[in-house]
Amino acid sequence: MTRPVEARIHMRALAHNLARVRAVAPHSRVMAVIKADGYGHGIRNVARALDPDAYGVACLEEALCLREAGIAQPIVLLEGFFAAAELPLIAQHDLDVVIHHLQQVETLERVTLSAPLKVWLKIDTGMHRLGVRPEAVNGMVERLNACRNVQPPIAYMTHFARADARDEATTASQWALFTQTLNSLPGPRSAANSGGLLGWPETHADWVRPGIMLYGASPYADLDGSDVRLEPAMTLCSRLIAVSALRRGDAVGYGGTWICPEDMPVGVVAIGYGDGYPRHAPAGTPVLVNGQRVSLIGRVSMDMITVDLRTLAQAQVGDSVVLWGEGLPVEEIARHAETIAYELLCKITPRVPRVMLT
Ligand SMILES: *Cc1c(COP(=O)(O)O)cnc(C)c1O
Repeated sequence: MTRPVEARIHMRALAHNLARVRAVAPHSRVMAVIKADGYGHGIRNVARALDPDAYGVACLEEALCLREAGIAQPIVLLEGFFAAAELPLIAQHDLDVVIHHLQQVETLERVTLSAPLKVWLKIDTGMHRLGVRPEAVNGMVERLNACRNVQPPIAYMTHFARADARDEATTASQWALFTQTLNSLPGPRSAANSGGLLGWPETHADWVRPGIMLYGASPYADLDGSDVRLEPAMTLCSRLIAVSALRRGDAVGYGGTWICPEDMPVGVVAIGYGDGYPRHAPAGTPVLVNGQRVSLIGRVSMDMITVDLRTLAQAQVGDSVVLWGEGLPVEEIARHAETIAYELLCKITPRVPRVMLT
Protein backbone atom coordinates (compact mmCIF):
# COMPACT_ATOMS: atom_id res chain seq x y z
CA MET A 1 0.00 0.00 0.00
CA THR A 2 1.28 3.45 -0.83
CA ARG A 3 1.13 6.32 1.63
CA PRO A 4 -2.47 7.49 1.52
CA VAL A 5 -1.90 11.25 1.23
CA GLU A 6 -3.26 13.02 -1.85
CA ALA A 7 -4.50 16.43 -2.92
CA ARG A 8 -7.61 15.92 -5.01
CA ILE A 9 -7.99 18.70 -7.57
CA HIS A 10 -11.58 19.28 -8.62
CA MET A 11 -11.61 20.42 -12.24
CA ARG A 12 -15.32 21.13 -12.04
CA ALA A 13 -14.77 23.49 -9.09
CA LEU A 14 -12.05 25.36 -10.99
CA ALA A 15 -14.39 25.79 -13.96
CA HIS A 16 -17.24 26.84 -11.65
CA ASN A 17 -15.06 29.46 -9.97
CA LEU A 18 -13.97 30.89 -13.32
CA ALA A 19 -17.63 31.05 -14.32
CA ARG A 20 -18.25 33.01 -11.10
CA VAL A 21 -15.50 35.44 -12.09
CA ARG A 22 -17.13 35.93 -15.48
CA ALA A 23 -20.57 36.40 -13.91
CA VAL A 24 -19.27 38.97 -11.41
CA ALA A 25 -17.18 40.87 -14.00
CA PRO A 26 -19.06 40.28 -17.25
CA HIS A 27 -17.45 43.15 -19.15
CA SER A 28 -13.83 42.34 -18.32
CA ARG A 29 -11.37 39.88 -19.73
CA VAL A 30 -9.93 37.41 -17.25
CA MET A 31 -6.24 36.93 -16.51
CA ALA A 32 -6.18 33.78 -14.40
CA VAL A 33 -3.33 34.04 -11.91
CA ILE A 34 -1.67 30.64 -11.63
CA LYS A 35 1.72 31.52 -10.14
CA ALA A 36 3.28 29.33 -7.44
CA ASP A 37 2.33 26.13 -9.24
CA GLY A 38 -1.27 27.21 -9.57
CA TYR A 39 -1.44 28.15 -5.87
CA GLY A 40 -0.26 24.60 -5.13
CA HIS A 41 -2.84 22.86 -7.32
CA GLY A 42 -0.39 22.03 -10.13
CA ILE A 43 0.05 24.70 -12.80
CA ARG A 44 -0.67 22.36 -15.72
CA ASN A 45 -3.72 20.88 -14.00
CA VAL A 46 -5.18 24.31 -13.48
CA ALA A 47 -4.42 25.41 -17.03
CA ARG A 48 -6.13 22.28 -18.32
CA ALA A 49 -9.27 22.96 -16.28
CA LEU A 50 -9.59 26.67 -17.15
CA ASP A 51 -10.07 28.63 -20.33
CA PRO A 52 -9.37 32.25 -19.39
CA ASP A 53 -8.36 35.09 -21.73
CA ALA A 54 -4.80 35.11 -20.37
CA TYR A 55 -2.66 33.71 -17.58
CA GLY A 56 -0.59 35.56 -15.00
CA VAL A 57 2.57 33.94 -13.61
CA ALA A 58 5.48 35.11 -11.49
CA CYS A 59 8.42 34.05 -13.62
CA LEU A 60 9.72 32.77 -16.94
CA GLU A 61 10.01 29.16 -15.71
CA GLU A 62 6.28 29.07 -14.95
CA ALA A 63 5.45 30.61 -18.34
CA LEU A 64 7.64 28.13 -20.22
CA CYS A 65 5.99 25.27 -18.39
CA LEU A 66 2.64 26.48 -19.78
CA ARG A 67 3.96 26.98 -23.33
CA GLU A 68 5.48 23.46 -23.22
CA ALA A 69 2.04 22.15 -22.24
CA GLY A 70 0.65 23.76 -25.40
CA ILE A 71 -1.01 26.76 -23.78
CA ALA A 72 -1.49 29.38 -26.51
CA GLN A 73 -3.20 32.18 -24.56
CA PRO A 74 -1.30 35.34 -23.62
CA ILE A 75 0.86 34.81 -20.53
CA VAL A 76 1.86 37.79 -18.41
CA LEU A 77 5.04 37.76 -16.34
CA LEU A 78 3.67 39.66 -13.33
CA GLU A 79 7.11 40.74 -12.09
CA GLY A 80 8.48 41.25 -15.58
CA PHE A 81 12.00 40.07 -16.25
CA PHE A 82 14.74 39.89 -13.67
CA ALA A 83 17.70 39.88 -16.08
CA ALA A 84 18.35 40.82 -19.71
CA ALA A 85 19.30 37.21 -20.41
CA GLU A 86 15.61 36.24 -20.14
CA LEU A 87 14.51 38.56 -22.94
CA PRO A 88 15.26 36.36 -25.98
CA LEU A 89 13.11 33.53 -24.54
CA ILE A 90 10.39 36.01 -23.60
CA ALA A 91 10.27 37.27 -27.18
CA GLN A 92 10.49 33.77 -28.66
CA HIS A 93 7.54 32.53 -26.58
CA ASP A 94 5.47 35.68 -27.02
CA LEU A 95 5.17 36.45 -23.30
CA ASP A 96 3.85 39.76 -21.94
CA VAL A 97 6.09 41.53 -19.45
CA VAL A 98 5.22 43.83 -16.57
CA ILE A 99 7.53 46.83 -16.39
CA HIS A 100 7.68 48.22 -12.87
CA HIS A 101 11.12 49.83 -12.70
CA LEU A 102 13.27 52.27 -14.67
CA GLN A 103 16.07 49.71 -14.90
CA GLN A 104 13.85 47.40 -16.94
CA VAL A 105 13.17 50.23 -19.40
CA GLU A 106 16.90 50.91 -19.72
CA THR A 107 17.50 47.23 -20.43
CA LEU A 108 14.75 47.15 -23.07
CA GLU A 109 16.31 50.18 -24.76
CA ARG A 110 19.68 48.43 -24.97
CA VAL A 111 18.87 44.98 -26.33
CA THR A 112 18.04 43.64 -29.79
CA LEU A 113 15.12 41.20 -29.85
CA SER A 114 13.55 38.94 -32.46
CA ALA A 115 10.16 40.60 -31.90
CA PRO A 116 8.83 43.55 -29.88
CA LEU A 117 7.27 42.71 -26.50
CA LYS A 118 3.81 43.38 -25.14
CA VAL A 119 4.31 45.50 -22.06
CA TRP A 120 2.21 46.21 -18.97
CA LEU A 121 3.35 49.29 -17.07
CA LYS A 122 2.77 48.79 -13.37
CA ILE A 123 1.86 51.88 -11.38
CA ASP A 124 2.30 52.18 -7.64
CA THR A 125 -0.95 53.70 -6.40
CA GLY A 126 -0.39 52.91 -2.72
CA MET A 127 0.81 49.33 -2.29
CA HIS A 128 4.40 50.64 -2.20
CA ARG A 129 5.89 47.39 -3.33
CA LEU A 130 6.37 47.25 -7.11
CA GLY A 131 5.50 49.98 -9.55
CA VAL A 132 6.30 53.34 -11.02
CA ARG A 133 5.26 56.44 -9.07
CA PRO A 134 2.28 58.22 -10.68
CA GLU A 135 4.32 61.35 -11.42
CA ALA A 136 6.88 59.25 -13.33
CA VAL A 137 4.31 57.56 -15.57
CA ASN A 138 4.25 60.04 -18.44
CA GLY A 139 8.02 60.05 -18.83
CA MET A 140 8.11 56.27 -18.71
CA VAL A 141 5.33 55.98 -21.29
CA GLU A 142 7.23 58.27 -23.66
CA ARG A 143 10.36 56.17 -23.38
CA LEU A 144 8.46 52.90 -23.83
CA ASN A 145 6.58 54.24 -26.84
CA ALA A 146 9.88 55.29 -28.39
CA CYS A 147 11.50 51.89 -27.75
CA ARG A 148 11.65 49.57 -30.77
CA ASN A 149 11.34 46.52 -28.50
CA VAL A 150 7.91 47.56 -27.24
CA GLN A 151 4.76 46.63 -29.14
CA PRO A 152 2.04 49.30 -28.77
CA PRO A 153 -0.32 49.90 -27.11
CA ILE A 154 1.12 49.73 -23.61
CA ALA A 155 -1.25 48.17 -21.06
CA TYR A 156 -1.51 49.51 -17.52
CA MET A 157 -1.92 47.84 -14.17
CA THR A 158 -1.85 48.52 -10.47
CA HIS A 159 -2.28 46.31 -7.41
CA PHE A 160 -4.47 46.83 -4.35
CA ALA A 161 -2.92 46.67 -0.89
CA ARG A 162 -6.07 46.19 1.17
CA ALA A 163 -8.75 44.72 -1.08
CA ASP A 164 -9.03 41.82 1.41
CA ALA A 165 -10.79 44.17 3.86
CA ARG A 166 -14.20 45.06 2.52
CA ASP A 167 -14.61 48.26 4.54
CA GLU A 168 -11.26 49.77 3.51
CA ALA A 169 -11.33 53.16 1.82
CA THR A 170 -7.82 52.75 0.39
CA THR A 171 -9.02 50.56 -2.49
CA ALA A 172 -11.26 53.36 -3.75
CA SER A 173 -8.47 55.91 -3.41
CA GLN A 174 -5.96 53.65 -5.18
CA TRP A 175 -8.49 53.22 -7.99
CA ALA A 176 -9.06 56.97 -8.21
CA LEU A 177 -5.32 57.65 -8.37
CA PHE A 178 -4.93 54.98 -11.08
CA THR A 179 -7.63 56.45 -13.33
CA GLN A 180 -6.46 60.04 -12.77
CA THR A 181 -2.87 59.12 -13.54
CA LEU A 182 -3.78 57.35 -16.77
CA ASN A 183 -6.34 59.94 -17.77
CA SER A 184 -6.65 59.69 -21.56
CA LEU A 185 -3.64 57.42 -22.26
CA PRO A 186 -4.72 54.71 -24.71
CA GLY A 187 -4.37 51.03 -23.78
CA PRO A 188 -6.08 48.43 -21.59
CA ARG A 189 -6.18 48.73 -17.80
CA SER A 190 -6.18 46.20 -14.98
CA ALA A 191 -6.44 46.61 -11.23
CA ALA A 192 -8.65 44.01 -9.53
CA ASN A 193 -7.33 40.91 -7.79
CA SER A 194 -9.94 38.61 -6.19
CA GLY A 195 -10.70 41.08 -3.41
CA GLY A 196 -11.20 43.94 -5.85
CA LEU A 197 -13.19 41.75 -8.19
CA LEU A 198 -15.71 40.67 -5.56
CA GLY A 199 -15.85 43.87 -3.55
CA TRP A 200 -15.29 46.81 -5.92
CA PRO A 201 -17.11 46.45 -9.25
CA GLU A 202 -15.97 49.90 -10.34
CA THR A 203 -12.38 48.57 -10.48
CA HIS A 204 -13.05 45.72 -12.93
CA ALA A 205 -11.74 47.69 -15.95
CA ASP A 206 -10.54 45.83 -19.07
CA TRP A 207 -8.87 42.93 -17.27
CA VAL A 208 -9.51 41.34 -13.87
CA ARG A 209 -6.74 39.27 -12.29
CA PRO A 210 -8.27 36.66 -9.98
CA GLY A 211 -6.02 34.23 -8.14
CA ILE A 212 -7.32 32.85 -4.86
CA MET A 213 -11.01 32.86 -5.85
CA LEU A 214 -10.30 30.52 -8.78
CA TYR A 215 -9.21 27.98 -6.19
CA GLY A 216 -12.43 28.42 -4.24
CA ALA A 217 -11.09 30.35 -1.27
CA SER A 218 -12.31 33.76 -0.19
CA PRO A 219 -9.92 36.71 -0.30
CA TYR A 220 -11.61 38.13 2.80
CA ALA A 221 -10.52 37.29 6.33
CA ASP A 222 -14.08 37.16 7.63
CA LEU A 223 -15.74 35.07 4.86
CA ASP A 224 -15.24 31.55 3.51
CA GLY A 225 -15.36 30.68 -0.19
CA SER A 226 -18.86 29.25 0.12
CA ASP A 227 -20.09 32.63 1.44
CA VAL A 228 -19.19 34.13 -1.94
CA ARG A 229 -20.43 31.07 -3.90
CA LEU A 230 -17.08 29.53 -4.67
CA GLU A 231 -16.23 25.83 -4.52
CA PRO A 232 -12.99 24.43 -3.08
CA ALA A 233 -10.68 23.23 -5.85
CA MET A 234 -8.45 21.16 -3.55
CA THR A 235 -9.36 18.49 -1.03
CA LEU A 236 -6.35 17.37 0.98
CA CYS A 237 -6.95 13.74 1.98
CA SER A 238 -5.32 10.98 3.94
CA ARG A 239 -6.28 8.03 6.15
CA LEU A 240 -5.99 6.82 9.72
CA ILE A 241 -2.89 4.62 9.93
CA ALA A 242 -3.20 3.74 13.63
CA VAL A 243 -5.79 3.89 16.40
CA SER A 244 -4.71 3.37 19.98
CA ALA A 245 -6.42 3.28 23.35
CA LEU A 246 -4.43 5.70 25.47
CA ARG A 247 -4.67 6.11 29.24
CA ARG A 248 -5.55 9.13 31.28
CA GLY A 249 -2.32 11.12 31.78
CA ASP A 250 -0.59 9.83 28.64
CA ALA A 251 1.28 12.62 26.81
CA VAL A 252 0.85 12.61 23.03
CA GLY A 253 3.59 13.40 20.51
CA TYR A 254 6.75 15.54 20.51
CA GLY A 255 7.17 17.60 23.62
CA GLY A 256 4.25 15.83 25.28
CA THR A 257 2.22 19.00 24.87
CA TRP A 258 -1.16 17.26 25.00
CA ILE A 259 -2.13 15.09 27.97
CA CYS A 260 -5.06 12.66 27.78
CA PRO A 261 -7.67 13.87 30.29
CA GLU A 262 -9.18 10.39 30.45
CA ASP A 263 -8.79 6.94 28.89
CA MET A 264 -9.49 7.62 25.21
CA PRO A 265 -8.94 6.51 21.61
CA VAL A 266 -6.36 8.48 19.64
CA GLY A 267 -5.92 8.23 15.89
CA VAL A 268 -2.79 8.79 13.84
CA VAL A 269 -3.24 10.34 10.40
CA ALA A 270 -0.59 10.14 7.67
CA ILE A 271 -0.12 13.89 7.03
CA GLY A 272 2.44 16.30 8.44
CA TYR A 273 4.43 19.41 7.80
CA GLY A 274 6.51 17.42 5.31
CA ASP A 275 3.36 17.44 3.20
CA GLY A 276 2.64 21.09 3.85
CA TYR A 277 0.16 20.69 6.71
CA PRO A 278 0.97 23.67 8.96
CA ARG A 279 3.16 22.73 11.92
CA HIS A 280 1.65 25.58 13.90
CA ALA A 281 -1.89 24.20 13.74
CA PRO A 282 -2.78 23.97 17.45
CA ALA A 283 -4.77 21.36 19.34
CA GLY A 284 -8.41 21.91 18.49
CA THR A 285 -7.85 22.43 14.76
CA PRO A 286 -10.66 20.49 13.05
CA VAL A 287 -10.02 17.35 10.98
CA LEU A 288 -12.69 15.26 9.22
CA VAL A 289 -12.57 11.52 9.90
CA ASN A 290 -15.23 9.66 7.90
CA GLY A 291 -16.85 13.04 7.34
CA GLN A 292 -17.12 13.77 11.10
CA ARG A 293 -15.30 16.61 12.78
CA VAL A 294 -12.68 15.66 15.34
CA SER A 295 -9.82 17.70 16.82
CA LEU A 296 -6.12 17.68 16.20
CA ILE A 297 -4.21 17.00 19.44
CA GLY A 298 -0.47 17.26 20.18
CA ARG A 299 2.17 18.65 17.86
CA VAL A 300 2.13 18.22 14.11
CA SER A 301 5.04 15.93 13.11
CA MET A 302 6.75 15.77 9.71
CA ASP A 303 4.68 12.83 8.46
CA MET A 304 1.87 12.42 10.99
CA ILE A 305 -0.69 14.13 13.16
CA THR A 306 -2.75 12.76 16.04
CA VAL A 307 -6.48 13.25 16.51
CA ASP A 308 -8.92 12.90 19.40
CA LEU A 309 -11.35 10.06 18.56
CA ARG A 310 -13.52 10.26 21.69
CA THR A 311 -16.55 11.27 19.63
CA LEU A 312 -15.83 8.62 17.00
CA ALA A 313 -15.24 5.43 18.97
CA GLN A 314 -15.93 3.23 15.94
CA ALA A 315 -13.08 4.78 13.87
CA GLN A 316 -10.64 2.27 12.42
CA VAL A 317 -7.32 2.10 10.61
CA GLY A 318 -7.91 2.91 6.94
CA ASP A 319 -10.75 5.35 7.57
CA SER A 320 -10.73 8.38 5.29
CA VAL A 321 -9.53 11.75 6.54
CA VAL A 322 -9.96 15.22 5.05
CA LEU A 323 -7.58 17.95 6.23
CA TRP A 324 -9.28 20.67 4.18
CA GLY A 325 -11.44 21.06 1.11
CA GLU A 326 -14.84 19.46 0.66
CA GLY A 327 -16.65 19.69 4.00
CA LEU A 328 -13.90 21.63 5.77
CA PRO A 329 -12.95 25.10 4.47
CA VAL A 330 -9.24 25.73 4.11
CA GLU A 331 -9.95 29.22 5.49
CA GLU A 332 -10.97 27.63 8.79
CA ILE A 333 -7.67 25.74 9.04
CA ALA A 334 -5.85 28.95 8.13
CA ARG A 335 -7.54 30.80 11.01
CA HIS A 336 -6.47 28.08 13.46
CA ALA A 337 -2.91 28.13 12.11
CA GLU A 338 -2.86 31.95 12.13
CA THR A 339 -2.19 32.23 8.42
CA ILE A 340 -4.18 32.64 5.20
CA ALA A 341 -5.60 30.07 2.77
CA TYR A 342 -3.11 31.27 0.13
CA GLU A 343 -0.16 30.06 2.18
CA LEU A 344 -1.66 26.69 3.06
CA LEU A 345 -2.50 25.93 -0.57
CA CYS A 346 0.90 27.04 -1.93
CA LYS A 347 2.83 25.08 0.64
CA ILE A 348 1.61 21.61 -0.27
CA THR A 349 4.93 19.89 -0.99
CA PRO A 350 5.91 17.99 -4.14
CA ARG A 351 5.66 14.59 -2.43
CA VAL A 352 1.85 14.96 -2.25
CA PRO A 353 0.35 13.58 -5.47
CA ARG A 354 -2.15 15.91 -7.13
CA VAL A 355 -5.00 13.76 -8.41
CA MET A 356 -7.25 15.37 -11.00
CA LEU A 357 -10.95 14.69 -10.61
CA THR A 358 -13.52 15.76 -13.16
C1 LIG B 1 -1.04 37.21 -7.13
C2 LIG B 1 -1.54 38.37 -7.88
C3 LIG B 1 -2.91 38.50 -8.17
C4 LIG B 1 -3.97 37.56 -7.65
O1 LIG B 1 -4.31 37.93 -6.33
P1 LIG B 1 -5.48 37.16 -5.52
O2 LIG B 1 -5.57 37.89 -4.25
O3 LIG B 1 -4.97 35.75 -5.34
O4 LIG B 1 -6.69 37.21 -6.36
C5 LIG B 1 -3.30 39.56 -8.98
N1 LIG B 1 -2.40 40.46 -9.44
C6 LIG B 1 -1.07 40.37 -9.16
C7 LIG B 1 -0.13 41.40 -9.69
C8 LIG B 1 -0.60 39.34 -8.36
O5 LIG B 1 0.70 39.26 -8.08
